Amino acid sequence: MAPPKSRTNITAISLINAFPRGHMIALALLLLCLLFSLVVSHPQDPESTIAVPISSTESSNFDARPLLPSLDVSLNTEPLSQTTDTPPSALPLATSTQAEVLPQGPQPKEFTVQSGDSLSLLFRRAGLGDKDIYELFNDAAEAKNLRKIKPGQKLTFLVDDNQLKELVYTINTLDSMTFTRASKGFIAKDTSLQPDIQHGFSQGVIDSSLYMAGKRSGLSTGLTMELANIFGWDIDFALDIQKGDAFKVMYEEQHLDGKRIGYGKILAAEFTNSGKTFRAVRYVDKDGVARYYTPDGRGMQKAFLRTPIEFARISSHFNLARKHPVLHIIRAHKGTDYAAARGTPIRATGDGKVSFAGRKGGYGNCIIINHGSGYETLYGHMNNFAKGMRAGTRISQGDIIGYVGSTGLASGPHLHYEFHVNGQVRNPVTVPLPKSMGIDKSQLAVFNESTRPLIAKLNEFSDNTQVAMAKGTTRNN
Ligand SMILES: [Zn+2]
Repeated sequence: MAPPKSRTNITAISLINAFPRGHMIALALLLLCLLFSLVVSHPQDPESTIAVPISSTESSNFDARPLLPSLDVSLNTEPLSQTTDTPPSALPLATSTQAEVLPQGPQPKEFTVQSGDSLSLLFRRAGLGDKDIYELFNDAAEAKNLRKIKPGQKLTFLVDDNQLKELVYTINTLDSMTFTRASKGFIAKDTSLQPDIQHGFSQGVIDSSLYMAGKRSGLSTGLTMELANIFGWDIDFALDIQKGDAFKVMYEEQHLDGKRIGYGKILAAEFTNSGKTFRAVRYVDKDGVARYYTPDGRGMQKAFLRTPIEFARISSHFNLARKHPVLHIIRAHKGTDYAAARGTPIRATGDGKVSFAGRKGGYGNCIIINHGSGYETLYGHMNNFAKGMRAGTRISQGDIIGYVGSTGLASGPHLHYEFHVNGQVRNPVTVPLPKSMGIDKSQLAVFNESTRPLIAKLNEFSDNTQVAMAKGTTRNN
């Protein structure tokens, strides 16, 4: 056999093509080994991980394709982000893998939902098309939940053969939904982890504000707000708080796999304001309604809110001998005026039934609510009423009944609010407000049985903490 003619313009490819097939595979393996050693010896080179997939597609000329996919993964030594928000084209295999681990089969791809993401966008990012979405929605009725994806939630795709095999929708730390492809289509399964509920305890002394004291004692902002809500019926946290006021709180902590994942409800709490101590305990009544009560079973919540508008300034007090700002004559001011922007919502201060809704002389647009037991409240100068306000309408405490305006005799937009007890006008700011219904006498034994251990535990916690503090040790619950 004559030796091939030597040519000066011979290219690498034509040289490779001239090789017998067995030699070609051997050459491909050699090249890949070389490539491997180059990349692994420079793991800090950021371009090396990108370079591998690109060069691997080029080397498919060498007919060594079956080797390449697993090699791609093993060469991705950089910890590529778990939540791959990079388009899949740049990273053929999204999940990062350690160089030592050669994965078996398809790897899950996890995406954290970002604002502006849509389901079809996320499917595309996972390398899937609308066909898989269609199949999923067609097979599993539960798939409609995927329309409610929110930023921060996770979608984990398992794709094999360009087809969705499994999708895990992580709704929150505890809840997830798994869609698995079976022989007859997708099957959905809900998973709800039950956290361990443990008791947490915090106590603090107020120096400047409850918020700061809560922060110092390790209380979450949510729990601090809840604490203020529980005692907000007895203590005005904006005006009454004094330096030296103190609190103790026992609350639920949610634990999962030995890690605290969140907080639950306040179970028992104590607040001392200007030397007076208030206590509250949580109790779920026979109707399943959870409320806070005093340890002897009276409701913490009062039958009335003190004010019908939150954070409004009092522009004119209750005064039975006031000079009227519009009429300029001495005329009793039978209520409290709250200055607020036109359109500010007005809330019913207690449960009841509308006894009047309409125009009423100087009051302008006016609503009167009858709360029973001789209590009535009146709201005047409204710009307009909330939907459905007419005599007979049932109202719950806190419902929006209308909006601030200046109808009737008013110098500017404000709410005129009156509080009537047995037909007599009373000062809404100072009138003693009745507590809402407490525990029924017939339920008191059950209430005591359920709440006394909580109060005992609150006391025990705080005693132990005081002992620990006296010994100079730090709190540890
Ligand atoms: Zn007024």
